Amino acid sequence: MNITPVTRATLPPLESYLEKIREIFSCRYLTNNGKNVRELEQSLTEFLEVPQLALCTNGTLALQLAIRMLGLNGKPVITTPFSYVATVSALLWEGCEPIFADIDPRTLCISPEAVEACLAERPDAAGVLPVHVYGNACDVTALEDICRRHGVALLYDAAHAFGCRMQGRGLLAWGDAAAGSFHATKLFHTVEGGCVACHTEEAGKRLALLRAFGHIGDDFITLGINAKMSEVHAAMGLCMLPLLPELIRRRTELCAAYDSLLDMPRTGLAKPVLAAGLEWNYAYYPVIFPDHDVMMRCLAALGKEQIHPRRYFYPSLNTLPYVRHVPCPVSEDIVQRIACLPLWPDMGMDTLERVAAILTATLGRA
Ligand SMILES: *Cc1c(COP(=O)(O)O)cnc(C)c1O
Repeated sequence: MNITPVTRATLPPLESYLEKIREIFSCRYLTNNGKNVRELEQSLTEFLEVPQLALCTNGTLALQLAIRMLGLNGKPVITTPFSYVATVSALLWEGCEPIFADIDPRTLCISPEAVEACLAERPDAAGVLPVHVYGNACDVTALEDICRRHGVALLYDAAHAFGCRMQGRGLLAWGDAAAGSFHATKLFHTVEGGCVACHTEEAGKRLALLRAFGHIGDDFITLGINAKMSEVHAAMGLCMLPLLPELIRRRTELCAAYDSLLDMPRTGLAKPVLAAGLEWNYAYYPVIFPDHDVMMRCLAALGKEQIHPRRYFYPSLNTLPYVRHVPCPVSEDIVQRIACLPLWPDMGMDTLERVAAILTATLGRA
C-alpha cells in the first residue's frame, strides 16, 4: 500500500537546477553573498512586496537574526502558544523570556486582547512575536496599534505566509520585521533557508552584518553568527520561484475539493476562519475536530490505510517542559483536536478523495 504523508516537497525540473549547478561548478563561488543569493534576494523582495529582505540559512535563524536586529535578545517577549516549536526555541536561544498570550478561537492567531492584557501585566516586555498561523493573517491592524501605543517592537513569524497578501500588501511587509522559512516542506523552499523582511536600509545592513560573523573585512563591528545562505541553496530558490503561481493555483483546487467533499459543518468538522482582507496561499489544510476522541478515531482510521495527517500544531507551547507554564485554555483545547490533512501541489485527486471518504465514513459512525 502506498504511504500518503501530510506533504511532499515540490522539486523543479532537474535540468533547470543542473544548469545552475553547472554554473556554480564553473565559477567555483559557493557561498558568501554570491550571485545566486543576491539574485534571489532581489526577486523575493519583488515577489513578496517587501521594502528590504535578507536571506539566511533557515527560518529559525531568521527569527534569531530579527530578534537581535530589533534588540530584543535577553528581554521578555510576548508570543503565541499555538505555533511550531521553533518560534519559542528562537526566543529562548536568544535569551528572551517567552510570555504566552492565548489565541483567538476563530483565527487561531494570537488574540490582540490577550496581548494587551500581557502588556498591562508585564510593562517590561520589549516586543511581540505573533505567528501568521497556516498563512492566516494575524489581526495586523490591532497589533500594530497596540505595539505602537506601548512602544514595543512587532516581529512576525511569517514561516507559513509566503505569497499571502493582506489589505493589498505583502503579508511579510507588516510589522517592524517578519521572518520567513524556506524549509523543504514549506510552500516555497530552498531545501533549507529563510529570510527576514524589514523596512529600512539600515535594518537590512544590520541583518547582513549579523548573518556573516559581524565583520566587514578587517572591520569587526558587532557580535555576529554564521547564517549565510549558500549558492547551491539559492539556486533551488531561483528554480522554484517561477513555479509558484501554478503551485498555488493547484493547491487552491485541492482545497476546494476537500471543502466540497468534507461537507462542513454537517460532519462536525471546522476550519480556522481566515482574516478579512487576506489573499491566502493555501499552504495547509487544517481541520478542527469536535473533540480529541473523534480526532484520534479519524487518525487511526486513516493510519490503517497508510494515510498520515499531522497533528500540527501539537503541543501547546506554553506546556513545553522547559518553559514556565501559564494557562492558555484556547490553545490547549485546540491542540487536542486539530490536524493538517495531506496536501501538496501534485497530490492526485484520487488520493484526496480517499482521505475525504475515510474521514466522512468515520465521522458518520462517530
Ligand atoms: C517551519 C517553521 C519555523 C522554522 O523554520 P525552519 O526553516 O524550519 O527553521 C518557524 N516557525 C514556524 C511557524 C514554522 O512553521
